[in-house]
Amino acid sequence: MAQSAQSSTETDWVSRFADEVIAEAERRAPGKAVVVASGLSPSGPIHLGNLREVMTPHLVADEIRRRGIEVRHVLSWDDYDRYRKVPAGIPGVDPETYGQYIGMPLTSVPAPAGSAYATWAEHFKAAMVEALDELGVEYDPISQTEQYTSGAYREQVLFAMKHRGDIDAVLDQYRTKQKPGGKKPQQKQVDEAELEAAEGSGAAAEDDGSAGESGYFPYKPYCGQCGKDFTKVTSYDDETTEMTYVCTEDGFTETVKLSEFNRGKLVWKVDWPMRWAFEGVIFEPSGVDHSSPGSSFQVGGQIVHIFGGEQPIGPMYAFVGISGMAKMSSSKGGVPTPADALKIMEPQLLRWLYARRKPNQSFKIAFDQEIQRLYDEWDKLEAKVADGSVLPADAAAHTRAVRVASHELPRTPRPLPYRTLASVVDITAGHDEQTLRILADLDPSQPLTSLDEVRPRLDRAENWITTQVPADQRTLVRETPDTELLSSLDAEGRESLRLLVDGLDSHWSLDGLTTLVYGVPKVMAGLEPDAKPTPELKVAQRTFFALLYRLLVTRETGPRLPTLLLAVGADRVRKLLAA
Ligand SMILES: [Zn+2]
Repeated sequence: MAQSAQSSTETDWVSRFADEVIAEAERRAPGKAVVVASGLSPSGPIHLGNLREVMTPHLVADEIRRRGIEVRHVLSWDDYDRYRKVPAGIPGVDPETYGQYIGMPLTSVPAPAGSAYATWAEHFKAAMVEALDELGVEYDPISQTEQYTSGAYREQVLFAMKHRGDIDAVLDQYRTKQKPGGKKPQQKQVDEAELEAAEGSGAAAEDDGSAGESGYFPYKPYCGQCGKDFTKVTSYDDETTEMTYVCTEDGFTETVKLSEFNRGKLVWKVDWPMRWAFEGVIFEPSGVDHSSPGSSFQVGGQIVHIFGGEQPIGPMYAFVGISGMAKMSSSKGGVPTPADALKIMEPQLLRWLYARRKPNQSFKIAFDQEIQRLYDEWDKLEAKVADGSVLPADAAAHTRAVRVASHELPRTPRPLPYRTLASVVDITAGHDEQTLRILADLDPSQPLTSLDEVRPRLDRAENWITTQVPADQRTLVRETPDTELLSSLDAEGRESLRLLVDGLDSHWSLDGLTTLVYGVPKVMAGLEPDAKPTPELKVAQRTFFALLYRLLVTRETGPRLPTLLLAVGADRVRKLLAA
């Protein structure tokens, strides 16, 4: 055990962080479970980019667990945060109606109409919970609503109020940071997706509870009348814990005993470090939006000492972009979610994208044609793992993608190439019997007998074709021959089609048809079928392929020809190519 742990270090970024986190946990809290943390705000659909907030600590926690060390991954649902704005384009949400809830905790806002859940927070949490489950992420969920309203943080809240002067002094250093004529902190160029992603994190609500005439208070009650947080604490007595607040919205005011009062929370910049200390968090990464001077992570690093804790090891992670997500499928407010990604790719592939890149490297998750190349790359990696030629770092990323400490993720028994599956379902429009016939023809020596052998990968490819590939890029096999094009062909063109048609039956497999389509132009050029390609031959092949595409699918390109021919079927190919 110790030996394997030793050899697993230094293979990749996850191992290196695990080493560091274990050492730090031993220093800070010997003999206790290692705690890593993530935080998500269910203020709307949770952006796919925010998955990094969970995946980074998950991978590190999983590595620690593999080494036989007890670890807890705390996932904090920031569902007691205020409802900041009504996100656009959410089905079942009328912006006019929902405007009235701004300022309430997310758990007090009703769910969109038609939801199976009672509250806004529950509704948007649910999709993420399901995705995390499918991804094999094991975590300990903590609802901040439950924590605050049950009084779990009572001591910490009273402590923060008592030490509000110290907290204010820390915050004040940053409030006055702006030097006259000095350089402003470098503004990072962020695109829209990044901003959306940032909004999902607590960073967007950078309210530090700035001091009013009556002094600084790090606590904000939700109003006893309207339930919103447009409140101002006007006085607080350290001895009695009597607190008076007034609501700026409706003028409501009351005096409560904070030692018994549970309807409010610490402001974000105090709340976060309080929780680091409360949970004993050793590792919690955060987005680059937290990295600037005065950001909640930086400030929290000082405030946490007031609570007697230490700042976690907290790498800044780069944003994760999305390439080519079709508008039509972004049903939930135009925001791509992890659930959307899992509709078009298996969890292993998504895990791999996160595992193979260091947190500070940005990358994109492909919803466009690029997904086919990604899958090719993944299949190549699997082949290398199988034959033992894989490099150690690639092997580590692969292992983290396919299994977690407790179990291996369910895999497609026969992982045929994604691009092949996509082409076939594109052509058959998801007709199961036809799909099975074509897939069985791919490799006649080992024919597929049931579509279950290629599931769930087949379903993901089908979802990709139907939800992400625009109509004008879909493959539509011709019903009738293009007689005009056929009759315009010269003798050479007709002869090439005849050679192809004559060879169909004897080459009816993926390999056979590959040989055939590349071989016809060779024979036409008077070369042997196994001749090395020359530049001239390559031109001839391209011309021949373009002709076939035009005759079969009325376009210059399409799925790989051997797959296309198999999918169209020999009889129909003969009909469409008969010159
Ligand atoms: Zn009020």
